[in-house]
Amino acid sequence: MIRSKRDGGSHSAEQIADFIAQFSAGTVADYQMSAWLMAVFARGMTDRETVALTHAMLHSGKVLRLASVKSAKVDKHSTGGVGDKISICLAPLVAACGVSVPMISGRGLGHTGGTLDKLQAIPGYRVELSPARFERVVREVGASMIGQSAELAPADRRIYALRDVTATVECIPLIVASILSKKLAEGIDGLVLDVKVGRGAFMKDLKSARALAHALVRVGTAAGKRVVALLTAMDFPIGRTIGNGLETREAIEVLRNAGPADTRELTLALGAEMLLLGKAARSSKDARVQLERALADGSALERFVRMVKAHGGDARAVERPEQLAKAKAKVAVLARRSGYVSECDAYALGMSAVRLGAGRTRADLAVDPSAGIELCAQRGERIARGEPLALIHARTKPLAESEAERIAQAFLIENTKPRAKHIVLERIAH
Ligand code: URA
Repeated sequence: MIRSKRDGGSHSAEQIADFIAQFSAGTVADYQMSAWLMAVFARGMTDRETVALTHAMLHSGKVLRLASVKSAKVDKHSTGGVGDKISICLAPLVAACGVSVPMISGRGLGHTGGTLDKLQAIPGYRVELSPARFERVVREVGASMIGQSAELAPADRRIYALRDVTATVECIPLIVASILSKKLAEGIDGLVLDVKVGRGAFMKDLKSARALAHALVRVGTAAGKRVVALLTAMDFPIGRTIGNGLETREAIEVLRNAGPADTRELTLALGAEMLLLGKAARSSKDARVQLERALADGSALERFVRMVKAHGGDARAVERPEQLAKAKAKVAVLARRSGYVSECDAYALGMSAVRLGAGRTRADLAVDPSAGIELCAQRGERIARGEPLALIHARTKPLAESEAERIAQAFLIENTKPRAKHIVLERIAH
């Protein structure tokens, strides 16, 4: 296998299945898998090989069926961004419109946040449910959001750990197999992918994001699922908050039919695709009408409350979301000149949030749920000299102050109003 890929050959589906099975059994050693991964990095894989790898990794563990859930099951996956709290408002919203959302999420990675850390800002919320309990919550509430268990796609977990330390992460076929093997293990009928593009994203330019999105859609479709991808902008943070408790608070604002316009827009755009894949809407327009109604009549918020309770969480946090932002120290970063905010660097702000305690620098570290950054001005807004640009939340004043200069530098203020930019850049379907 290693020699064949090194020399530019291709593998049959049986060969790939056998290789992954032997790796899982311990017959193929980590160093051999690492060499093969590097050969794949250099030589690439055909779609057929990527489908076979996805299938082999998916079947390295348990595959949920969720047979007792009768409605369509559709999930969303984001490739990771800054201020990306969309899953938290999206899952209950889509559930309120009749499509079930069995969502398995991850933790923060590097400068990007993770949905699990955000949910755990809610006191008592349990992210570990048995497969039977997960199925029951999906069936009864319509949405459940849990963490990845060791039973689902275990080969991906081991392969990802090797990729992380052998410079083989940035490889489209390996990314596609990694993402899809985990998502297909959820027993879904359809998947909407939010492929982020820009400074704060994994894919920095449109060309590479497009290539990843096309590959995800092709391979997911070949695996028998309904798959759509949206390319969305990640040069600026989404919404006005970065940090776990702050972001959960903002997602609750969206569920209360308020919240920042960009956060609401992205939630509606992804939600519309999920309703279409779940065949719960006739058209995009119809989907939007249903989603907006569920936000306005409180049914999306009510689903969220039920989901939080089903996970053992304290629903009072939903009624009083200000409780989710209780940092001991708050320090304002003031604008040094008047003008329009024309840049607001998502990567720099994401890294500041990590240093404030909202993210982690090692997988085994805990996060501080109250740490983060509140943006008082978003891109395109006018600000006067001396007004706050951002409010830093941290456990101590010195820690908050230590990031103030870097956060100030993440903003650019200019005389002219920047051109508005759309958050959804492209839609990619089969
Ligand atoms: N996210 C994943 O789950 N896998 C990858 O390979 C990259 C991003």
